[in-house]
Amino acid sequence: MPIQTRRAIVIGGSIGGLFAAALLRRAGWDTHVYERVGVDLSGRGAGIVTHPEMVEALKAAGANPGDDLGVFIQDRRTLDRHGNVIEEYHCPQTATSWNRLLQMLRDSFPADHYHRGKELVAIETTQEIAVARFADGSSAEAELIVGADGFRSTVRNQFLPDVKPIYAGYVAWRGLVEESALPPIAHRDLFPYFAFCLPPGEQMLGYPVAGPNDDLRPGHRRYNFVWYRPADEDSTLQRLLTDETGHIHSVSIPPPLIARSTIAEMLSESERVLAPQFQELVRVTEQPFLQPIYDLESPRMAFPRIALVGDAAFVARPHVGGGVAKAAQDAMTLVRALTVEADLDAALRRFEAERIAVGRRIVDRARRLGSYMRTRFNTAEERALAERHQTPEAVMSETALLNFLRE
Ligand SMILES: Cc1cc2nc3c(=O)[nH]c(=O)nc-3n(C[C@H](O)[C@H](O)[C@H](O)COP(=O)(O)OP(=O)(O)OC[C@H]3O[C@@H](n4cnc5c(N)ncnc54)[C@H](O)[C@@H]3O)c2cc1C
Repeated sequence: MPIQTRRAIVIGGSIGGLFAAALLRRAGWDTHVYERVGVDLSGRGAGIVTHPEMVEALKAAGANPGDDLGVFIQDRRTLDRHGNVIEEYHCPQTATSWNRLLQMLRDSFPADHYHRGKELVAIETTQEIAVARFADGSSAEAELIVGADGFRSTVRNQFLPDVKPIYAGYVAWRGLVEESALPPIAHRDLFPYFAFCLPPGEQMLGYPVAGPNDDLRPGHRRYNFVWYRPADEDSTLQRLLTDETGHIHSVSIPPPLIARSTIAEMLSESERVLAPQFQELVRVTEQPFLQPIYDLESPRMAFPRIALVGDAAFVARPHVGGGVAKAAQDAMTLVRALTVEADLDAALRRFEAERIAVGRRIVDRARRLGSYMRTRFNTAEERALAERHQTPEAVMSETALLNFLRE
């Protein structure tokens, strides 16, 4: 069959799905995206640190990142509890925003092939075809289905029902603050930097990103923070996920529903453990969000006529900042394998062999970087690992960098 007539379905229209869809389309596949959410997805993410692997995939997908992908940062620094700079590290890097990436990818893919409000419920496959069945009773057929439906993937659940995200033992408080709303001390000491503060067993980090509508003008940007704190699964996590009405949310809680007492406690804890600059940052954050941290590893990424990409296959803790680059490279590798191998099964096997090893390495690396985010250690080995990764020097030279994949 000539390559132009091949049809692909991508389940999930977020960043991973759009990378896969845009690349498949450019490789000649007639590609349609089916996204569960019925409205625009923008606004769901915050800051994203860029990597060469991400920029390469954006260009291949036809989403021209140009010269203004985000805010350029030269240096990293760590502040102590009193706000003094205790260590610096030169590390040029560009930070962009989730919205900006999503918009670039949306612009590179035809809107009439992107179907909103379509929730996949099941897949059926035969020798010849794969059929996606949706909650509204409709269905779609293709030679290939790509599961890019995130860490609670319906596609993965069907083929690997035993694979579940595993709670890492800590949460991240996250927030985005308008540059113009930053108190002067925070603007001066944090805004130009990828900045850290390292209370025992915790980690606060922040970096500048574009403002609303991708605004990169000074004064119109935003500062993004992520504050990791241990939270015991059976007690603290349950309390954090309990809303004003007493309802306990599973996995995550919508930001507006976070209980006022939880926010008040978080603010008072920030005064206890963080540098004054970071306290100010947290204090002026209008709507913090809470993100329990999980690990997810799939033993397979391909099945007959099916591929898993992005968070559907592997979720690493955010310390390596590699989720978008990983999803992008999953998609690149898949499309390259489909181009090299005429046989679909052989292409899927080639894709899986290449990417499963990378997924494992990223998850393992992120687990090591996060190993000190806990209050108790069970073995001397655990404690030694944690000590190795919690110094300012280690944190600044390892966080949000993918160098280890190139070694
Ligand atoms: C605190 C934090 C910080 C992070 N920082 C970074 C960073 O600096 N750099 C970085 O690269 N990454 C970062 N990430 C990770 C990054 O956001 C993701 O890894 C990346 O967006 C890839 O996601 P995805 O497209 O595979 O899945 P998702 O973004 O989860 O998208 C899945 C999509 O599938 C849809 N869907 C789900 N089920 C169905 C269904 N049944 N039918 C149809 N559609 C469905 C969903 O609605 C969703 O739109 C961070 C994550 C966290 C938590």
